[in-house]
Amino acid sequence: MSRWKGPMSTAGGVTRTYGLRRHFTKPGIEGEAPKIRLPILKRIVRYFTPYWSQFTVILFCIALAAGLNVLPPFCVAMILDKAIPGGDMNLLALLAGAMVALAVISGFMGVLQHTLTARAGQSIMFDLRTELYRHLQRMSLFFYTATRSGQIVSRINNDVNAVQGVATTTIITIASNLATLAATSIALFSMNWKLALMAIVVVPAFYIPAKIVGRIRRRLSLETQERQASLLAFMNERLHVGGALLASIFGQKEADAGEFSEKSADIRDLNVKQATVGRWLFMILSVFSAIGPALIFWYGGYQVIQKELTLGLLVAFIALLTLLYRPLMQLVSVYVDIQASVAVFQRIFEYLDMEPEIQDQPEAKEMENARGHIVFENVGFAYPARPVVSGEENRDRRNGQGNGDSEPFALRNISFEIKPGEQVALVGPSGAGKTTITYLLPRLYDPDDGRILIDEHDIRHLAQENLRRHIGMVTQETFLFHASLRENLLYAKPDANEGEITEACRVANIHDFIAALPEGYDTVVGERGFRLSGGEKQRVSIARALLKNPSMLILDEATSSLDATSEFLIQTALEKLIKNRTSLIIAHRLSTILSSDKIVVLSEGRLVDIGSHDELLKRGGLYSELFEQQFSRVLSLER
Ligand code: ADP
Repeated sequence: MSRWKGPMSTAGGVTRTYGLRRHFTKPGIEGEAPKIRLPILKRIVRYFTPYWSQFTVILFCIALAAGLNVLPPFCVAMILDKAIPGGDMNLLALLAGAMVALAVISGFMGVLQHTLTARAGQSIMFDLRTELYRHLQRMSLFFYTATRSGQIVSRINNDVNAVQGVATTTIITIASNLATLAATSIALFSMNWKLALMAIVVVPAFYIPAKIVGRIRRRLSLETQERQASLLAFMNERLHVGGALLASIFGQKEADAGEFSEKSADIRDLNVKQATVGRWLFMILSVFSAIGPALIFWYGGYQVIQKELTLGLLVAFIALLTLLYRPLMQLVSVYVDIQASVAVFQRIFEYLDMEPEIQDQPEAKEMENARGHIVFENVGFAYPARPVVSGEENRDRRNGQGNGDSEPFALRNISFEIKPGEQVALVGPSGAGKTTITYLLPRLYDPDDGRILIDEHDIRHLAQENLRRHIGMVTQETFLFHASLRENLLYAKPDANEGEITEACRVANIHDFIAALPEGYDTVVGERGFRLSGGEKQRVSIARALLKNPSMLILDEATSSLDATSEFLIQTALEKLIKNRTSLIIAHRLSTILSSDKIVVLSEGRLVDIGSHDELLKRGGLYSELFEQQFSRVLSLER
């Protein structure tokens, strides 16, 4: 089962038989969620600073509203102590009117504050989402092969959405509660300092239970998020064409359903736990907030009897007590929210902190035009040993050769040259390293040893975008976006005009087919769109490569056999695509091998031979063996 590694996995310390007491008594619970530290807070604050002016207005609204909120109890006191006993109708009307006016003004402040908060919150989310997306785009191909796609999507989606809660709810709750607390304390002390002191005495008792419950909730929240990401990834795989097919064919539906319900039962239990802890906190705090008024009534009543306090002031005092305890209660539970919010940010930062394995050098060069002269010099490469997920996991990847894997290298000491315009075929048994070589050229991975030169430039010194602009790729598995054919083609050259598109499709032998579709180039294809056959997709991808018009081409010939017509259409399209371009081809077709200028023979990551077809055949060895196995029959039929 794949799980997030690093600090997250340690959150699994919470066991199924969860109980509050257990957590109170268990010393030093293992795998404590990370503490809130200053650097991370500073980093979070940085996302809020662009919106400081909005937050200033918001804080002003909050302070004003808090000040206004303590006034109504004073109106009540004056009504009870002055207006009613004195029979002053005018004062009564004035005070009643003032209460309404105060409510209107503070309501208006509320609207303004909410509008601004929503705007600021959404803007922060927008910034984070964009930053994450851009960052993930820079990750090397390995990141995508090592991470379940559902997990990436879930993190961007859920965690960034959760950030909005931080901006709108958490921060505003803190500010408005602090303001109310300050205003209320001033009001209470100005009325009667003895009573006020008594009300404040019970306050520290709020803190301790909140701290304990806060810690538990933070850990639960982390684990829930983690489990949810895992469930989402599971669903993404299983409820997907490929996964569903596998489940049917291997008869694993029952087992999958079992795993699914096990995973979602975990989430159910965790959520129940979270909700329960929240209620415990609430219960404890409610008891404390009931003690306060009881004490006040007792001592305040005594003061009224002794004529040290008016009845009106006592009523006002009690009314203000709610304004003291409610913010206090919310502030302690907000502390819990802050912890959860920090956890959310931490998860996002974990992604942002992963360094893309392939990076441009500070002074990366750009090639205006490439002739397409490719040289591999003693190139060695090993795939990263462990999945990149939490950043720190993978740092020592190549020191990990002692991982029980005695031969981690996918390529060793590979040297060959392709002159501009030459066609080179890569042949060798499956797993020999052919695909890996094609990945190294556009720097989807960087070699560990040796270097690769294009037109005498070490490709590590070239800007990645610039390098890739000169390289086209046609792979076996053609991926088309869920978009119209035109949009898919324009992905290769966004400013191509209609003429260029149709010309490319003509050369790729696909124009007639597309033109015959009811919606022509506007036909939506891809996962949920119109289904193209394998051969048709291949030709669309050839057209896409033609539009890009690169000087170097990587081609992975399809191994699956197509019908003769498709085969012919693709073959002629490819011939036109390859013409005048430096081509590196993982060759499966006899005609491609025979027409290549050079054949590179690979086995187990090593280059075992290189030469023309005739030379290689004459020398015997692996090439003639492979040739014998795959093509001798075809050849004898053709002759
Ligand atoms: P070919 O294309 O010749 O079949 P590949 O270049 O795909 O061979 O693979 C070369 C070696 O690298 C194989 O041993 C394969 O298992 C390994 N390999 C390929 N892709 C990965 C990957 N993403 N992570 C780890 N090892 C890989």
